[in-house]
Amino acid sequence: MKIGVPKEIFEGEARVALTPDSAGHLQKLGHQCFVEAGAGAAAGFSDKAYEAAGVTVVKTATALFKEVDIVAKVRPPSEAETKRLSKGQTLISFFYPAQNEKLLELANKQGATVVAMDMVPRISRAQKMDALSSMANIAGYRAVIEAGNNFGRFFTGQVTAAGKVPPAKVLIVGAGVAGLAAIGTSTSLGAITYAFDVRPEVAEQIESMGAEFVYLDFEEKQTDGAATGGYAAPSSPEFREAQLKKFRELAPEMDIVITTALIPGRDAPVLWTKDMVEAMKPGSVIVDLAAERGGNCELTKADQKVVTDNGVTIVGYTDFPSRMAAQSSTLYANNIRHMMFDLTPGKDGVVNHNMEDDVIRGATVTHGGEITFPPPPPKIA
Ligand code: NAD
Repeated sequence: MKIGVPKEIFEGEARVALTPDSAGHLQKLGHQCFVEAGAGAAAGFSDKAYEAAGVTVVKTATALFKEVDIVAKVRPPSEAETKRLSKGQTLISFFYPAQNEKLLELANKQGATVVAMDMVPRISRAQKMDALSSMANIAGYRAVIEAGNNFGRFFTGQVTAAGKVPPAKVLIVGAGVAGLAAIGTSTSLGAITYAFDVRPEVAEQIESMGAEFVYLDFEEKQTDGAATGGYAAPSSPEFREAQLKKFRELAPEMDIVITTALIPGRDAPVLWTKDMVEAMKPGSVIVDLAAERGGNCELTKADQKVVTDNGVTIVGYTDFPSRMAAQSSTLYANNIRHMMFDLTPGKDGVVNHNMEDDVIRGATVTHGGEITFPPPPPKIA
C-alpha cells in the first residue's frame, strides 16, 4: 500500500507522523512511503533525509492525498482535509470521535476508514500503539523542564562555598502517565517531590519513583475517586474538600506545582484555587497540563504564561509534545508503524483490516461505510 504523510496544518504543530526511521520499518512491511515536502522540517527531518530513506517527497498535500491509500497524520484532520479523503482510503491520526461527531460523519460520508490513535484500547498488547501514553510521557517530562525554565533556583539542594541552597519542593497532582513522567523527571533533577492522585493504588508507584505520596486525613477509604476501568471518577464533595484542605496546607511550602488531573469525558477538575496561588511564595511556578480541558488551576489561561501579582508564574501551554517535536514525532511515528504492523499481518504490503482484532476494532471509528464508534469493550485485557 501507499502510505502518505502531509504537513500538519494546525497552527504551531511541529510534529510529523513519519520519520525516516519509521519509513524503513513500513517499507519492510511491503509499503511505499510518501511525504509532503517540508512535512518533517519543524521536527528536524529534512526532505533529503526522507529521500535517503526511500520516501517519495510530494510537492503538495493535494497531490499526496490523491496518490496514497493511507494518510497518516498527528492532529485530527480539518474539514477540508476530511473532504479530501476518498472512498476506500484510510486515515490514521488522533481523531477524538466523541468530541468530533460532525467530522466523523463527514469522514464516513466520504467512504473513508478512520483509525483513531486516541481510541487504541489500553490493553497490554496495544501498548506499542498507545500514542496517548507516548505523548503524555513527553508532556510530563516537558512540564518539569518548562517549570525549571521559569524557576529561578536549582531543583537539587547544594552546599557550596558561596552558600547553602535548599532543594526545591515539587508537588505533582495526578499520577497517570504524564504525572508519573513528571515525578521521574523531578526526582532525577534532585527536587523533593510530592504527588497526589485520587486513585490510591498509585501510591506504590509514586513511592517507588522516589516521591512522597500525599495521604489525606479522610475517614473513608480514598476510593471515592478511584478507578473505573483504570481511570478516575469524579470525587465526592467531602473527598474534594479534604483534598483542597490538604493542598491549602501545602501551597505556601511548594516551589513548583505540576497539575495533570483529568477525568475522561469531563472538564478538568479545579484543584488549585486562587487562594492557593495567592498563598504561594513569589518565584513559584505552576505548570497546568490540564489547560486544554479548562485547567486544574483556577487562574490558568490556556496557551499562555501568566505571572500573578504575588509573583507566581502559571504556565498553561497546551502543546508540550509539539515543543519536543523530534522526540514526539519519533515515538508517534513508531506508534503508527506498530499499528501498520498489525494491519499488515502478511508483511506483504497488503492491509487486512481485521475487525475481529480487539485493537484494530477499538481504534477503527469508520469502516466500510459505517460509523463503528463507540466500539464494544475489548475481549482480552
Ligand atoms: P488521565 O490523563 O485520564 O488522568 C491523569 C490522572 O489524574 C489520573 O491518574 C487520574 O487518576 C488523576 N486524577 C483525576 N482526578 C483527580 C483529582 N481530583 N485529584 C488528583 N488526581 C486526579 O490518566 P492517564 O495518564 O491516561 O492514565 C489513566 C489510567 O490508565 C491509569 O490507571 C494508567 O495506569 C492506565 N493506563 C494503562 C495503560 C495500559 O494498560 N496499556 C496505558 C496507559 C494508561
